[in-house]
Amino acid sequence: MKLSSSVGSLPLVGPVYVKKLVQLNIYTIEDLLNHVPTRYIDFTLNSKISKIQPGETVTIKGYVNNFKNIYTKFRKKIQIADISDASGNIQIVWFNQPYLVKTIKKGMDISLSGKVDRFGNKKTLISPEYEIIQNGKVNIHTGRLVPIYHETRGVSSKWLRGRIAYLLTFADTIFEEYLPNSLIKIHNLINIKDAYQKVHFPLSLEEAEKARRRIAFDELLKLHLKNEYRKSDWRKNEVIYKLKVDDKVSNEFIKTLPFTLTNSQKRTISEISTDLASVKPMNRLLEGDVGSGKTVVAATAAFIAFANKYQSVFMAPTQILAQQHFNTLRSIFEPFRVRVSLITSEGIKEGPGKTDIYVGTHALIEKKVDFDNVAFVVIDEQHRFGVEQRAHLIKKTGTKTQAPHVLTMTATPIPRTVALTLYGDLDLSTLDELPQGRQKIITWIVPPAKREKAYFWIDEQIKTKSIQAFVICPLIEMSDKESMKDVKAVSSEYEKLKVFFPKYKLGLLHGRLPAKEKVKVMQDYKEGKIDILVSTAVVEVGIDVENATLMVIEGSERFGLAQLHQLRGRVGRGEKKSYCLLFTEVRSNNIYKRLTALKKTLSGFELAELDLELRGPGEVFGKHQHGFFDLRVASWQDTNLIKETKKLALEVTNDPHKYTKLISKLNTSSIAPN
Ligand code: ADP
Ligand code: MG
Repeated sequence: MKLSSSVGSLPLVGPVYVKKLVQLNIYTIEDLLNHVPTRYIDFTLNSKISKIQPGETVTIKGYVNNFKNIYTKFRKKIQIADISDASGNIQIVWFNQPYLVKTIKKGMDISLSGKVDRFGNKKTLISPEYEIIQNGKVNIHTGRLVPIYHETRGVSSKWLRGRIAYLLTFADTIFEEYLPNSLIKIHNLINIKDAYQKVHFPLSLEEAEKARRRIAFDELLKLHLKNEYRKSDWRKNEVIYKLKVDDKVSNEFIKTLPFTLTNSQKRTISEISTDLASVKPMNRLLEGDVGSGKTVVAATAAFIAFANKYQSVFMAPTQILAQQHFNTLRSIFEPFRVRVSLITSEGIKEGPGKTDIYVGTHALIEKKVDFDNVAFVVIDEQHRFGVEQRAHLIKKTGTKTQAPHVLTMTATPIPRTVALTLYGDLDLSTLDELPQGRQKIITWIVPPAKREKAYFWIDEQIKTKSIQAFVICPLIEMSDKESMKDVKAVSSEYEKLKVFFPKYKLGLLHGRLPAKEKVKVMQDYKEGKIDILVSTAVVEVGIDVENATLMVIEGSERFGLAQLHQLRGRVGRGEKKSYCLLFTEVRSNNIYKRLTALKKTLSGFELAELDLELRGPGEVFGKHQHGFFDLRVASWQDTNLIKETKKLALEVTNDPHKYTKLISKLNTSSIAPN
């Protein structure tokens, strides 16, 4: 048995289970072992049958005198086991589990854990956990701290427990310690085999936490090491075209902008300029809230390349965004006669003469584009691209040993600790302020009872202020792709609103529309030909429409906080007061708490930090990024552990011969190409 073997190689895990386990992100045996409990139920209190008290959670052990299925007056099936120990006997009750008759039989010894209750007039355990006592077999479901796992349909904690316990009987052959003893001591760790045993089947909660800490340590160390390797790989590159960087030149461009730069923008431009002057290619992540003005920062760098007579490439995840960048860049570079081309799956839009800046979607990679001398590459909304696409573009614009300068941009507010762990191979620049004069977006939570009133209010707003509105519908299933169901849902919302707002012109936008139509709808909206745009979350990224000051988000509870924040960022771009109405059908304190945070906080970074506190990272970044930002065992709250492992990763890369075993272990499995 190997950690990398498929879970399907385990007994009792057939193709059906293999498929179900994918829902839990479990593919290999290692994944199964890393599926650590979310909590433990305390069944450690052993009691004699005669001593049990209502309200207690206890474990009793006894002999099965009898087990039977009986029918009640109302034709419900109940199961009753008659159990005795030296102190007395008891009737245990289950409801609607007739198949138990196959497992629990007269003459067996059984262990039962649950809460003491009353049935009729007698003390009993109702539907307790049970486990047949067999010689030499350790109990896993009763009489101890029992692990509870994140479950999915058809995969219960009990089932997982069974499979994991079976796997752990091979622990001696599966696990080999690869951390040197000295490190284990210094970092106060337990050995890897014990860690897996104890995280699943601990004797105490302290033991469980120690075990989790060790596994988390390895997970984080692996991430950091991966980054360090990528970083040193990147550093092997020479820059493909050396640039002369002169602030006077960039200032020529900056002077022509219709606004003054924010301090963040100035700082970031200077960080990037320093990189561009180096003989090593830049590899930098620029993170900044929606509307913080990343485009102009990237444009300044493109201008530096242009002034050196080299080309730049801007890659954006959607047609709409590429089109928008194309328009923006063309207009701000107009005074300098910079030639901008647009390359999408629809075709190539090129001006006369040679191109200075290529803007496009992933068509930039797929199409035969005549890159001539690209010195600078921008990848916008980086999380929307796969690692390979990114690598592909860099390869296409560089050579085997040379790379262009690369700026990766994201509007996902990533807390610093997270960024340093996930993108530790990149240098980090942050735009942490919005341009001055931005309106605060007023956010309201709208429960079902106020929905109609809200519609009248929207009507009034459009009528009196001639503003435009977005209505965003959530995806029905949690995935990053729109299904036909989603298209239907958004289309029927569109029809419904058409009836409610007969005076206005409504537009419909979703991912399944032909690209041309999408661009047309967006264009019409931008030009004010559409009053209300009903859309799925495809507008999430980067759309800039100044007159759109009102956003309705349907089913807002279905979005992650950061995603809501990004959607909200579509309004509030102009001078007028902007509103975001969070419609929700669900009444739950937790959801209100989350939505209220959004109402109170306007900074994406603050929200991300807050969400990190409120819940796991999966939520922070929205469902569509699930799995990507997820840690399996470690948590983003483990700040000290994150720092500790980061430091160790640096030591390991600086002094690799001291850590050969560790490197071979961590290196083989999952170091992905950059
Ligand atoms: P994002 O960071 O979300 O990509 P953009 O680059 O699209 O943001 O900028 C959003 C809007 O803000 C654009 O209309 C842009 O022209 C404008 N803008 C950028 N920087 C400033 C600034 N310093 N002052 C005022 N407006 C700015
Ligand atoms: Mg942008």
